[in-house]
Amino acid sequence: MPYSLSGVRHNGFEKADLHIHTKCSDGIFTPEQIIEKAAAVGLKAISITDHDSVLGIDKAKPLALTKGVELIPGVEMSSTFKGYDIHVLGYFFDYQQSELKQYLDHCRHLRTERAERMVGKLAKMGVKIGIEQIILKAQNGSVGRPHIAAVLQDGGYVKSFSEAFSKYLGAHSPAYVKSIETHPRDVIRLINEASGLSFLAHPAHNVPDETLKQLITFGLDGIEIVHPSHDLYKQNYYREIANEYFLLFSGGSDFHGMKERDDDAFGNITIPYEWVTKMKSRLVKT
Ligand code: AMP
Ligand code: ZN
Ligand code: FE
Ligand code: FE
Repeated sequence: MPYSLSGVRHNGFEKADLHIHTKCSDGIFTPEQIIEKAAAVGLKAISITDHDSVLGIDKAKPLALTKGVELIPGVEMSSTFKGYDIHVLGYFFDYQQSELKQYLDHCRHLRTERAERMVGKLAKMGVKIGIEQIILKAQNGSVGRPHIAAVLQDGGYVKSFSEAFSKYLGAHSPAYVKSIETHPRDVIRLINEASGLSFLAHPAHNVPDETLKQLITFGLDGIEIVHPSHDLYKQNYYREIANEYFLLFSGGSDFHGMKERDDDAFGNITIPYEWVTKMKSRLVKT
């Protein structure tokens, strides 16, 4: 059937978006609003993948059921390898599993501590912002650099988000503090032990090929192929690597809802639902 429940055309393909942030980390929209938007653009399946948090899943679930949007449990977990900030996406895991939950609680605590250290570094540069302002911005979600960027913008220290990152918060900028330093192997293990599948997020961000191949040996189930930072050339390139290692494909919009970054392009960066079906058959087999 070419039309979804909301009457939006699917162009013959059923689509999914498996990389979306909400207010539970550094997104702008609530999990419920994300479900509304997914239904409005006719997405068959989505995954809410907040940074080191699964708190959005239960919030979104009832509305997802009502609207007929398939909600795949998801998370984007931070890790560090050879100094690189490695993001691992987890899908289809038991998000109530206690070891995983405890670990994610610990990560949120570490994220707040990290923000405090960044506030300290900023103060030394004459930028006086308070940790309370950042925590208020995060509204009980996982604290991240985008919250600090928003406070810097509110305080008139920068004109834009990108200026906040280039001047203060980026990986090579003076107020940067390293993110969670868990080894990616341990993050992958946590996802596997909760019966999920793990994917390397946006490999083009900062992972050289040699490192990508090492990451694969840690037990990844797949690679994120579709991402706003991947042009068609990169998508094909990573597809070839995934095929070479018998890995699954994933992808999505990495939507945060920020005007400057996403321009409200929700529903435009998607994957064929068939990729989700392939993930499910991998789950059944293992
Ligand atoms: P964190 O998890 O605190 O290290 O922050 C990472 C998040 O910051 C990413 O997921 C993006 O949402 C955002 N981010 C990273 N670099 C930039 C940038 N140069 N401009 C805007 N946002 C960025
Ligand atoms: Zn983010
Ligand atoms: Fe990421
Ligand atoms: Fe993301």
